[in-house]
Amino acid sequence: MIFDALMYNFFMKKNIGLYVHIPFCEKKCDYCNFVSFCKSDDDKLKYMNALEKEIVLQGEKFSKLEYIVDTIFVGGGTPSVLQNGEIERLISNLRKHFDVDKNAEITIECNPNSLTIQKLQEFKSAGVNRLSIGLQAYNDNLLKLIGRLHTKKQFDMAIKNAKQVGFENINVDLILGIPKQKICDVKKEIKHLIKLGATHISAYGLIVEENTKLDYNLKNAVYKLPKESTSIKMYDIVLKMLKRKGIFRYEVSNFAKVGYECKHNLKYWTDKEYLGLGVVSSSYIQNKRWKNTDNFLKYCEFFEINSKGKTDLSEIIEDEEILDLNAKIEECLMLSLRTKDGIDLIDFEKQFGVDLLKKKKAEIEELSKNKFIEIKNNRLLCTDAGFKLLNQIIVMLV
Ligand code: SF4
Repeated sequence: MIFDALMYNFFMKKNIGLYVHIPFCEKKCDYCNFVSFCKSDDDKLKYMNALEKEIVLQGEKFSKLEYIVDTIFVGGGTPSVLQNGEIERLISNLRKHFDVDKNAEITIECNPNSLTIQKLQEFKSAGVNRLSIGLQAYNDNLLKLIGRLHTKKQFDMAIKNAKQVGFENINVDLILGIPKQKICDVKKEIKHLIKLGATHISAYGLIVEENTKLDYNLKNAVYKLPKESTSIKMYDIVLKMLKRKGIFRYEVSNFAKVGYECKHNLKYWTDKEYLGLGVVSSSYIQNKRWKNTDNFLKYCEFFEINSKGKTDLSEIIEDEEILDLNAKIEECLMLSLRTKDGIDLIDFEKQFGVDLLKKKKAEIEELSKNKFIEIKNNRLLCTDAGFKLLNQIIVMLV
């Protein structure tokens, strides 16, 4: 009987992913408008203490709700700029206050110049099993041009160190469409990453965010962006070169060897639940979406003042929204179509009571005729050509 009760409890637990935001960077990159700051050690400590309090409060709530954590993603910012021992402390706190699966995927975002052997050993012993390294470009001139602090040599050293410490699940972030970047630069970097044995690559098109140094420099003609056709060609080259080596696109900007897809990020695209911890982090649980404040001081002060432990976090929560049926349908279309598996039409009908093939008959026929989408095994998927027109396809199907 006891065994049955335990088994029942085990099977009733729901999976959840945790995202933890560490908003610190050594220096702001020229293109970046993420919530990340260059802060003093005192401020970092203040934040980590506040974060610890949020972990305690949320941990209590979600353990009671019977959740088991199967992915943790420590992102930023640059989590690897924390003092030695901080990541170990963070992960051990997460384990203490949440039910973390022993096989959970645990990722940490890092920059090549902060990945020392000592840090990597700390991550390893804390249970981190996936690294996500921000390379952006394997070319020192381009790195300098976008305000990155590291060099390609430091990246090579970081990979060497990571392998020496025993990491083999490593993502490398790249940016395509950097001013002065040429197609041959992209070819060279992909060739190099393949040689290094890359298992996962994220390749994002450069986005010019307002009020960044990049925006300023473009407006003042310090440099200019490559032509759109060149950036598209760069993406095609990445897709082709990686595919040839068995590194497949599983989301519009993400490529992996089979089995190395990022389980945590897949949650965002496949309607799975996740809890965000820390400033600006987003959560999605039981059809409710919310975001923590992006105000660093407000976040830290809230937990400082509430050190005796209030349980109501509403003061630091913004943009709370309960998704109705239409919003859910829209989200499902927008996010699923980004992935190689697209939309499961049977599940879609079961979940939303909508026969998409019937409802969007004319649009689907037109998109299929132009070979932008295809229907395979009851799934509606984008083709290679369709991925390039993803936004237009989504607008037609929503
Ligand atoms: S390291 Fe990442 S988060 Fe930090 S400034 Fe650069 S792009 Fe932004």
